[in-house]
Amino acid sequence: MRTATLALTTAIMAATPLVAHEALVGATVIDGTGRAIENGVVLVDEDRIACVGTAEECAIPEGTNVHDVTGSFVTPGLIDAHMHFAQTGWIDGRPDGIEDKRIYPYEELVDSLRADPGRWHRSYLCSGVTAVFDVGGAPWTVTDPHATDTDWVDRVHVKAAGPLITHYDLNRYFVYGSLEDQVKFWPMESEAEIRADIARLKALGSDAIKVWFIRPEPDEKDRLDALLMAVGAAATANGLPLIVHATELEGAKTALKAGAKMLVHSVDDEPVDQEFIDLLLANDATYAPTLIAGLNWGRAVLAVATGEAAALDDPNMCVDQQLFDRINDPTALQPALEERTGGRVSPFAMGMIGAGREEVIMAQNLRTVRNAGGHIVMATDAGNPLTLHGPSVYNEMEAMEAAGMTPDEIIHAATLAGAQTMGLAEEIGTLEAGKSADLIVLSEDPRQTVRNFRSLTQVMRKGVLKTQEELRVR
Ligand SMILES: [Zn+2]
Repeated sequence: MRTATLALTTAIMAATPLVAHEALVGATVIDGTGRAIENGVVLVDEDRIACVGTAEECAIPEGTNVHDVTGSFVTPGLIDAHMHFAQTGWIDGRPDGIEDKRIYPYEELVDSLRADPGRWHRSYLCSGVTAVFDVGGAPWTVTDPHATDTDWVDRVHVKAAGPLITHYDLNRYFVYGSLEDQVKFWPMESEAEIRADIARLKALGSDAIKVWFIRPEPDEKDRLDALLMAVGAAATANGLPLIVHATELEGAKTALKAGAKMLVHSVDDEPVDQEFIDLLLANDATYAPTLIAGLNWGRAVLAVATGEAAALDDPNMCVDQQLFDRINDPTALQPALEERTGGRVSPFAMGMIGAGREEVIMAQNLRTVRNAGGHIVMATDAGNPLTLHGPSVYNEMEAMEAAGMTPDEIIHAATLAGAQTMGLAEEIGTLEAGKSADLIVLSEDPRQTVRNFRSLTQVMRKGVLKTQEELRVR
């Protein structure tokens, strides 16, 4: 099938005179396949890449709009393989953490997020991200046009899992009221119910079956392990990948035995062992480290506790004014934090941070998975407090580099590897003829350090090139 499609594309391109509408010239083109072309050319025909190569390989047709980006670096658009459209990047989107509906009524918040999901599409494009995987949220994150309409240049590519199947019920915190059809957490109680829920998710249009699998009490372990296996079997029967939140080694192994195609977080309780690696590789499963989200949760709680706003890591001005204002008014949530913790803020904050031990283990496990040849993606868990839609990709990639991955490995994780995990490798992830014209231009070389992804100057989505200044939201 794949071969036939490629052959057809090649035949059409050979028969049709090349009409490129845009060309970028003079940059070092890091095309995502492992090739870097000095003084390269990228030709774009409408929303597709027409040619990537040297000036000799890609002759520029007459009438092309040529952009001289000499001295710059061009890469594929970045891909965040773990985020949530139904969360904001602040505590107001996580009433299970600290809730105060007097200040931030949850129904109003969800209505506003649903009414304008373009908010997060804008902040992603502003940061150089052109595709995201929403790995869990209310049904609208799957069904609404922002996820289903592909004919929109101001939108990033979206794959979405929708409601989470879980034994760990948090629905009580989210108070649905008028949002009764928008319940996020679906119970994992019996095999019959699981089969029915997965059929419903398939009908909604979910791209994956997400399970939230929290360490079971010992007397519950056998029952819940069996239910997770049932989810895996039903997901497979419906042709949908199983993706699992299981941050403990035992739970992660159970998830892989159930057929998981993606672990949406690091294993953070102990070093992974050979059995884990064997299971991960046998499934060709994706490992999404999400190194920064826990620490950011802790920073958010401490900001509320101290009343001192957290430093915002948003070098390209992609966080919009409403979110900016809420993050800069942490005192609003102080009464709720006092109620939640009975005044004992520090243990709560440290629980959120996960302390240093988990940070060290996550870095160690990332190296172990990398050394074993595991499939690693760049994934932020954006939408959680202070893990910002868009700019958090810089911090996440820097954490991957600090953990020992090379810039080239991280560039792969943030482009082609993410596209493969999303099932979009034919469409995005590399700069190759026929793919969607989604790319970014940097003034500094990301192969030196991924910190240089901050030096974003231009973003092209579907062949439309914009300067970073045009994409700023404040
Ligand atoms: Zn998440």
